[in-house]
Amino acid sequence: MRILVTGGAGFIGSHLIDRLMTQGHEVVCLDNFYTGHKRNLLNWLNNPYFELIRHDITEPIRLEVDQVYHLACPASPVHYQYNPVKTIKTNVMGTMNMLGLAKRVKARFLLASTSEVYGDPEVHPQSEEYRGSVNPIGIRSCYDEGKRVAETLAFDYHRQNDVEIRVARIFNTYGPRMLENDGRVVSNFVVQALRNNPLTVYGDGSQTRSFCYVSDLVEGLMRLMNGDFVGPVNLGNPDEYTILQLAQAVQQMVNPSGEIKFEPLPQDDPRRRKPDITRAKTHLDWQPTIPLQDGLQRTIADFRDRILAESAAESESIALH
Ligand code: NAD
Ligand code: UDP
Repeated sequence: MRILVTGGAGFIGSHLIDRLMTQGHEVVCLDNFYTGHKRNLLNWLNNPYFELIRHDITEPIRLEVDQVYHLACPASPVHYQYNPVKTIKTNVMGTMNMLGLAKRVKARFLLASTSEVYGDPEVHPQSEEYRGSVNPIGIRSCYDEGKRVAETLAFDYHRQNDVEIRVARIFNTYGPRMLENDGRVVSNFVVQALRNNPLTVYGDGSQTRSFCYVSDLVEGLMRLMNGDFVGPVNLGNPDEYTILQLAQAVQQMVNPSGEIKFEPLPQDDPRRRKPDITRAKTHLDWQPTIPLQDGLQRTIADFRDRILAESAAESESIALH
């Protein structure tokens, strides 16, 4: 098949492209490189079945494809809050452009939505029936309201224009290739521990999240795309940890004598988050397989390699001067 991945140079998108290329598909990646990088796609740049197009999805584009995985949108609060108006444009105009493309060429369209559509949830764990508790005017709204509109657009194109859609609500995902300056909790803690800096826990660290390793998530996305179930469907790991527990786990694995320091909790930070994955189990026969300890080991190894490569390059440049 010919498959379009928007946001394919980013963290999840590049892992998805690895799987699609390995399966023998032809892949077109659209990305404006806001948080994505060509280095995530180095394996495929010279492959004749892979095409990388620098394009901002807020502008329309004409392409002929069979499936669209629509992932383009910055996912970390630091990045999506840097230019919130752009984040809304990406979610609304960008999603509309990509749905328009899917409609024109009759491609199946999968939306990468988010657990953020549940806001700061009053229901725990969150099932897909829960309609959420979202602040429409807060600093996270550009992202969570943006994704809510993206879901609405997907369902309206489905009802009005018969576009075949699939909607995934992705919960916190982590793994190799997250950006060092990403600002998300796993990458922050791992980078801080490797650099021997204190781990920054926001608030008292009692807020919870459930962390899914990226290969599990990609498997869920592909099952959703290729199955009959429209969704929305939660994709995430139901093992729930407090942020303080996560900090302690990373500390134990990297630098047991390191410090933890407490910083103010950002505005509208959800108190608790854990997916109910009954739908994914029932309709996709999917559940995560990688426990947090294993996933963290792999993530730490990737960051360690990158940080070592950076310090080697720095020493070389100092030696040259
Ligand atoms: P990421 O920031 O690594 O990747 C996003 C990609 O989209 C980047 O390559 C970026 O350059 C590209 N992009 C952003 N705006 C664009 C635009 N206007 N035009 C073209 N390209 C654009 O993030 P990620 O973690 O890989 O997330 C991918 C998708 O999954 C996002 O839609 C995100 O909302 C969703 N998601 C991720 C998580 C998570 O924990 N990682 C959780 C929930 C939902
Ligand atoms: N967090 C933290 N220290 C950090 C980065 C994040 O304590 O250095 C907290 C953050 O306040 C939130 C949780 O970790 O409660 C998850 O944050 P992240 O940005 O990874 O994802 P999201 O809040 O979007 O789920």
